[in-house]
Amino acid sequence: MITVDLRSDTVTKPTPGMFEAMMNAKVGDDVFGEDETVNALEAKAAKMFGMKAGIFCPSGTMTNQIAIKCFTQPLDELIADQTAHVYRYEGGGIAFNSGVSTRLLDGNRGRITAEMIAPEINAENIHFPHTSLVVLENTVNKGGGSCYTLNDIAPIADLCKSKSLKLHLDGARIFNALANTGDKALDYGKYFDGISVCLSKGLGAPVGSVLLADVATIKYARRIRKVFGGGMRQAGFLAAAGIYALDNHVERLKIDHAHAGILAEELSKCAWVTNVLPADTNIVLFDTKEPADVIVNKLGEKGIICLPTGPNRIRFVLHLDVHPEQVEYTVGVLKGL
Ligand SMILES: *Cc1c(COP(=O)(O)O)cnc(C)c1O
Repeated sequence: MITVDLRSDTVTKPTPGMFEAMMNAKVGDDVFGEDETVNALEAKAAKMFGMKAGIFCPSGTMTNQIAIKCFTQPLDELIADQTAHVYRYEGGGIAFNSGVSTRLLDGNRGRITAEMIAPEINAENIHFPHTSLVVLENTVNKGGGSCYTLNDIAPIADLCKSKSLKLHLDGARIFNALANTGDKALDYGKYFDGISVCLSKGLGAPVGSVLLADVATIKYARRIRKVFGGGMRQAGFLAAAGIYALDNHVERLKIDHAHAGILAEELSKCAWVTNVLPADTNIVLFDTKEPADVIVNKLGEKGIICLPTGPNRIRFVLHLDVHPEQVEYTVGVLKGL
């Protein structure tokens, strides 16, 4: 039986080309700064996004949490959308790692605006936590892969500058956002103090994210990464997969987006589906008449595995291990359900 794994874009396995690049990597001890492949990945990613420096970490959770630690002091507050991964899916790390509270906004599919942020910045008063950071996510996971354009981001960056707030981007799926908006990675550097770029989502590397920032921030981030237990040794084997992904798996993301569009279109015709959110990138969120668990089980019996994200909501995520014939098969199953 065909298996189509639509649970997450983290389930991908290295392609033969990526695996070969990993096996051929030149490595050293990265805690000593001696792994040339890690150094090359950090420099490459920083250059791509117009940032000064980078640090390779085991996960996107770690790059986000290090950024929050770098950009805040205990007793501070950060502002983010209520769906933000940093708040919902990082285990309470904002409070635990940084001693920081979170002010949540109710954005449009996870996207917040300067107008929404401005009134939530606390005045200087000993009763209030000191607002020091804004975190944006692009694309927004819980928003079903919704995107900010740089035109949306520019006024937020202006506001942050004028109020002396830092601005961090959780770019777990930043390349999906770039493919959708047509914005250029290089232009991102001037708006953000920190950028997390995930290599193990749609880009298909087995492990790793890179945090990008200025030289002083990354120097401090190395200290924090060590404290978090994320100082890796011959990590070049993993960084090589990241370099390969940046060179070979960015262009193809538009295939995943096209596949998401095909599934969303089909779902919108299904009588058992009540609502399909716009499939802007590689994620399709849809609501079902029957409980989501029931539908997930029915799909599972046909070899299509996916996750419920609410009592009546299901998520499909497209990625490089979902091929056109699997999309076709899925369309057939959706029609017949
Ligand atoms: C997956 C994800 C992360 C990081 O996840 P890790 O599994 O820790 O690499 C961060 N932000 C968003 C929006 C994500 O989807």
